[in-house]
Amino acid sequence: MAIIKVHDKEFTPYLTEEEINEQVTRIAFEINRDYQGRKPLFIAILNGSFIFAADLFKKLNIEAEIAFIKLASYKGVKSTGKVITAIGLDAELYGRDVIIIEDIVDTGKTLSQFLPQLEHHNPSSLKIAALLHKPDAIVHPIKIDYLGFTIPNKFVIGYGLDYDGLGRNIKEIYQLV
Ligand code: 5GP
Repeated sequence: MAIIKVHDKEFTPYLTEEEINEQVTRIAFEINRDYQGRKPLFIAILNGSFIFAADLFKKLNIEAEIAFIKLASYKGVKSTGKVITAIGLDAELYGRDVIIIEDIVDTGKTLSQFLPQLEHHNPSSLKIAALLHKPDAIVHPIKIDYLGFTIPNKFVIGYGLDYDGLGRNIKEIYQLV
C-alpha cells in the first residue's frame, strides 16, 4: 500500500483489511455471546457505516434484525440550535434490544443528540458498536460498548468513510498525511 490522492489531499495507509477484519470478527464474537436468544435490532447510521454494518451483520450467528437510517440536522423552528432527526426509522423500538452501528465517534455530538431520542422509545437496552473512536476529539463523551479501534485525531477514509464523497470503496483505512 502506498500514499493515495483523493481530491486534493494525500492519505497514507493506516489499517489493513486484515486488521479491520480481525476487529470486526471480535466484535461479532462478543455480540453473538452477549445477545444469545435476544433477537437484537441493529440500527446502522448511513452513509459511513454501511460496509462495517454489512461485514459485522454477516458474522452474526444469532437471530437479529437490521434497519438503516440517515441522520439529518435542521434548524428547529423555535429552537436556536440544530436538531438531529432520524430519517427511515420506522422499526418499533419499544422493548427491543437495540444496537447502534456507527462508523466513527469523533466529537460525539451526533450520538449525544440522537441517543436521548432513541431512549424516548423505551428500548429494553441500547448499546453502541463503533468501528473507530477518536478520544482526543471527544466533546460529548459517549460510552461505546463494542469498539474496533481507538485512533488518533486525524481524518480517515476508506471502508465506508469518505472524503467529500470519494474513498468509501477503499478496502483499507487511510489517514490524512
Ligand atoms: P461526531 O458527531 O462524533 O463528531 O461525528 C460523527 C460523524 O462525523 C461520523 O459518523 C462521520 O460521518 C464523520 N466523521 C468524523 N470523523 C471522521 C473522519 O476522520 N473521516 C470521515 N470520513 N468522517 C468522519
